[in-house]
Amino acid sequence: MKRAVALVMVTAALSFSTAPLAAQDNARLDAQKKEAVKGVDEMAKLAQEMVDSVFSFGELGMQEVETSRYLTAQLEKFGFKVTRGQSGIPTAWVATYGSGKPVIALGSDIDGIPQSSQKPGVAYHDPIIEGAPGHGEGHNTGTPLNIIAAIAVKKIMERDKLPGTIMLWPGVAEELVASKAWFVRDGMFKDVDVNLFTHVGNNLGTSWGQGGGTGLVSMEFTFEGETAHSAGAPWRGRSALDAVELMSVGWQYRREHLRLSHRSHSVITNGGDQPNVVPRNASIWFYFREIDQPHIKELVDIGIKMAEGAALMTNTKMTYRILGTAYPQHMNKVVAETMYENIKAVGLPAWSEQDQALAKGLQKELGNATQDGLAVKLGELGKPVALEDNTGGGSDDIGDISWNMPTITLRYPANIPGLPGHNWSSGIASATPIAHKGVIAGAKAQAMTVLDLLTKPELVKGAWDYFNNVQTKDVKYVPFITRDTPAPTFLNKAILEKYREQMRKFYYDPTKFPTYLDQLGIKYPTVRTAETPKPQQ
Ligand SMILES: [Zn+2]
Repeated sequence: MKRAVALVMVTAALSFSTAPLAAQDNARLDAQKKEAVKGVDEMAKLAQEMVDSVFSFGELGMQEVETSRYLTAQLEKFGFKVTRGQSGIPTAWVATYGSGKPVIALGSDIDGIPQSSQKPGVAYHDPIIEGAPGHGEGHNTGTPLNIIAAIAVKKIMERDKLPGTIMLWPGVAEELVASKAWFVRDGMFKDVDVNLFTHVGNNLGTSWGQGGGTGLVSMEFTFEGETAHSAGAPWRGRSALDAVELMSVGWQYRREHLRLSHRSHSVITNGGDQPNVVPRNASIWFYFREIDQPHIKELVDIGIKMAEGAALMTNTKMTYRILGTAYPQHMNKVVAETMYENIKAVGLPAWSEQDQALAKGLQKELGNATQDGLAVKLGELGKPVALEDNTGGGSDDIGDISWNMPTITLRYPANIPGLPGHNWSSGIASATPIAHKGVIAGAKAQAMTVLDLLTKPELVKGAWDYFNNVQTKDVKYVPFITRDTPAPTFLNKAILEKYREQMRKFYYDPTKFPTYLDQLGIKYPTVRTAETPKPQQ
């Protein structure tokens, strides 16, 4: 085996791309891919432990303390070098193995959703801790997938002395789109050739070109007035809450005259202290979403004007700050096509009867029109969405990365189709055999694609050719944050302070229980029967 490798390297140095050499290289790459697939399968137990552990931590964005500690410990155990605290974010880290070019980065999100605590494997709302956060999207699965893929590839790199670097990184606070633009700004990816991002889905797939959905700016507007006795001398007070309410009402009127592709929503983060005191301080937090940068900017400008108007009306002072930002996405054609070939080779997992029963049980519970369970047919390679066909939707700050280097998102089938998202129902499959199998399938496609990129320089070259001469030929990246915008590391602190000690009792202990379902004593699947209490309406 070793002699064959040496021969290939010598021949490669002497002559370029002769037909027999190409055949020999392909045979070698095929063998490496087969081994990576085998290596991933052999790590199924580790994948399950990582998926279940991160699920049990259930941490929200910027507070992924246990999650990051656990995942980086795994990476260090397997020989990756870890640095922490990127962009001033305590839960951010970078793990690397290898040296030199190409540098292939693997990323995935790690944060959860407020109020989505849920027992896995139970096809109706049944929180582990009422009101606590949880993985109501499935972000517990992506980094375990990347770690499994990276370990499988690392073994082959070591043995075959493949040059190149694998880098792993976490999407901190993705639900708040509050880290990736900062990572880009601070040069975390400056040497990266290709970024292979991965996100939970309900099929195995990828896409290229301009994506659907939106980009956004997340902004908090704070008003400052003056307190007074609300009954004794209300005329001496100036209410910051009035300003918040007027801005909110003003925005609802303006909404009628905004483009159909826009989305905007807000929560009041501070509405004052008590009714008897005119609120001196109040804040409202908006997401301004549109399908391209100029229109996002337009919404931001409208928002600032409206806030100024509210301040004028109430004689209060207004300040604002950016808490997050996501660019509309554009994924790389060459990398997506390479990934899609590997996706076809891997195929969908073989679902068990129990897996399908859980999926169909949940779809029935939610009253879905379609109740046909888990995906059994691979999707097509996703193609560009024309701006005029984009009716808006969600965002991901992977968009910022996609405008700075060739990037794709691999979607893997670790969740059930037809769910509302950001909801307890999206956490049901996330620590069950559905997620475990979906992660294994995804890790295989990811590992195979890393091997393609490490061993075929023409792919990296082609990816940059698309990036430079097609994607960014006429459209340039204009970040919404500046040098001075700090990462909002304080977000979700209070929620985790409230729930962490209760949640700690439910952290998964793989030394005592084969799976998290076993630890919680859940029969898989648990689907509603006549005896199950009816959900609260
Ligand atoms: Zn997500």
